[in-house]
Amino acid sequence: MTDDMVVWLEEVGKEDIAIVGGKGASLGEMLRAELPVPAGFAVTAQAFRRFIDENGIGEELFSSLEINVDDAETLKEAERKAKKLINGAKIPEDIEKSIRDKYRELCGRKGEEVFVAVRSSATAEDLPDASFAGQQDTFLNIKGDANVIEAVKKCWASLYGARAIYYRVKQGFEHSKVNLCAVVQMMVDAEKAGVMFSSHPSTGEPLTIIEAAWGLGESVVSGAVSPDYYVIDRRIKKIQERKIASKNIQHIRDQKTGRTIELPVPDDKKNAKVLEDEEILKLVELGEVVEDLYGIPQDVEWAIMDHEFFMLQSRPITTIKKKKDTKEKAAMSALLEGLGASPGIACGEAKLISDASELGKVKDGDILVAVMTTPDMVPAMKRAAAIVTDEGGMTCHAAIVSRELGCPAVVGTRKATELLSDGMMITVDGEKGLVFEGKKEVQAAPESQTRASVSFTKSKPLTATEVKVNVSIPEATARALETQADGVGLLRIEHMILGLPKHPKQYIKEGNADEYVNELVSRIQTVVDAFYPKPVWVRTLDAPTDEFRAMEGGEGEPIEPNPMLGYRGIRRDLIDTEHFELEVRAFRELIKRGYSNMGIMIPLVQHPSELRRAKEFMRSKGLDIDKTDIGIMVEIPAAALIIDQFIAVGLDFVSFGTNDLTQYTLAVDRNNEHIAHLYNEMHPAVMKLIEHVIVECNKAGVKTSICGQAGSNPKVAKRLVELGITSISANIDAVEAVREMVARTELQLLLKSARERRG
Ligand code: PEP
Ligand code: MG
Repeated sequence: MTDDMVVWLEEVGKEDIAIVGGKGASLGEMLRAELPVPAGFAVTAQAFRRFIDENGIGEELFSSLEINVDDAETLKEAERKAKKLINGAKIPEDIEKSIRDKYRELCGRKGEEVFVAVRSSATAEDLPDASFAGQQDTFLNIKGDANVIEAVKKCWASLYGARAIYYRVKQGFEHSKVNLCAVVQMMVDAEKAGVMFSSHPSTGEPLTIIEAAWGLGESVVSGAVSPDYYVIDRRIKKIQERKIASKNIQHIRDQKTGRTIELPVPDDKKNAKVLEDEEILKLVELGEVVEDLYGIPQDVEWAIMDHEFFMLQSRPITTIKKKKDTKEKAAMSALLEGLGASPGIACGEAKLISDASELGKVKDGDILVAVMTTPDMVPAMKRAAAIVTDEGGMTCHAAIVSRELGCPAVVGTRKATELLSDGMMITVDGEKGLVFEGKKEVQAAPESQTRASVSFTKSKPLTATEVKVNVSIPEATARALETQADGVGLLRIEHMILGLPKHPKQYIKEGNADEYVNELVSRIQTVVDAFYPKPVWVRTLDAPTDEFRAMEGGEGEPIEPNPMLGYRGIRRDLIDTEHFELEVRAFRELIKRGYSNMGIMIPLVQHPSELRRAKEFMRSKGLDIDKTDIGIMVEIPAAALIIDQFIAVGLDFVSFGTNDLTQYTLAVDRNNEHIAHLYNEMHPAVMKLIEHVIVECNKAGVKTSICGQAGSNPKVAKRLVELGITSISANIDAVEAVREMVARTELQLLLKSARERRG
């Protein structure tokens, strides 16, 4: 125990949670056990309390938090007021001096000014063991004493972020009884990093699991790359399983700005193993020490720099299940029935997820069960063996992302979250849309039906109609490329944006618009680069407000009675031109980098003036639209009916967004499982609109394509080829079947016309 306001991490231990919070105490314990934790110090919870008291802001601060947290506007206002109070207050001089002295000493140890991370470690006065993980902010890459002091204050202010206020109220914590310690730790410039489970995360067996990737650990923790995967039997120190993944991107620290940037992995390292055997065994050893220290299996974030090992964080694994002694019985009939949204069969333990904070529950091989998935669940969807949802149709988020990940999925079961429970063993048949209780023997499940093993090794038939592929998440690029598609007929950028840590507006508000543009560029570049020189049609933002509102800083998204008919697509960009301009900047940068294969596609147009205004805007912001293919999505019947007027404005291509075109033509909400039986992409009215557009476009020499789900249906593909469509863009898993159908249809047409000519 110590009375100091700012303490070295090695001076604290597990008895000091009230002073340095759970995270600070745990780091102190690890240092005491001589585990390689990056050096650092803690600005204690008591320092925070003195800061509040000496500035006399406590009363005003805590009374401003007595609000109805379910009202997003009020919550946002409370955050603003509270943060203003904190930011306007002064850190007591002696505390500031101690922070400065300790930071200087850290720099002295390294012989240079060092980058540090400032992390929050909250503690409740009456319940020191309570977990506030992930509720407050971390500030990375901070350098210089003034910046460190500033970051400590920002870290304290993050105790009053909307998310943290909401969490405390819902968990029944009094705001005035929760304090925040700021942990200041040297940053590690990792060459390789990842996570490790010291024991098996679901069975608790002494099997260590390690995931590793190049660069900083962010790419593994956030799920941005598929890492290498190793399973080690700790008892005999034997590496039992080793999967070397294709690692396309890495996060590294920019030496000038200190910012974390995403870069492509050099070609020679993409498929190379990240860890040598000795490194794996050294990590296993460290995992054992930390597990012994806490007496419970640990989930560790580790890094390696200049052959030196570091443990950045360690938390107990909370998912280990005791073996149930109930008899496992294979159910004879399905427990649940829904839509088979992504083919494949998998069995595993159900893990019910109600929001992104619970994603850690889903470990490799588990079945993710949710009312509906959201973009921030993608990292867990990647680990899941299958996905089951209550809601949704064939074009909902869960369906689109599962297909791209090659993960079996059943959506729209209506009651999965009611009938399934955590830890229950289930079998999911994503082809037939069925979920069975228990481990069902699945005979003759061909290899090609299991996750990520779809193979495209057959020789590819040549087709005059191009067969392209749809991509929504950059992580699907490698699988998309394997299809040997003729390009990308739809790159949805909203999924990329939704994968960022915060809302675009938040980047703008913090003065980081450049960083946001860079993020966009690097994500889009992953795809346009992989497919170069084949065309990639990048779609401008089509973001439904309900999905964007869930992001950090997304509270300002309008609440709409019907987001599907609301503020999305090009109508949104034409209002929020501040954001549209950033998209245009990203496109310009990609063109500057030589990606002449990029085309730009405008979503949800309903009047030609929208196309005209969008083009004028892009031109006014310096995009040479005469040198870039520009097209529109045909998703609204109005656009189909007056396609000639769009052609008159000038466009290079159109693409049928049948997911929306079907819902708007038939008045059937595409995500409503109750009326899914009425949702018919081949309805004669939908086909009539499509036919009209193809005829008009062919007359005018404008290319036509389809990127809605209907394009993945070989029957629709056949009809479209007969109508004279220029290209078809299908889901990864459907490209091969569609290509075969296209080839066969083209041949039939040729034979037919030859016969007719012969008389
Ligand atoms: C569509 O509407 O068919 C389409 C491809 O766009 P999204 O599914 O993203 O609305
Ligand atoms: Mg659409």
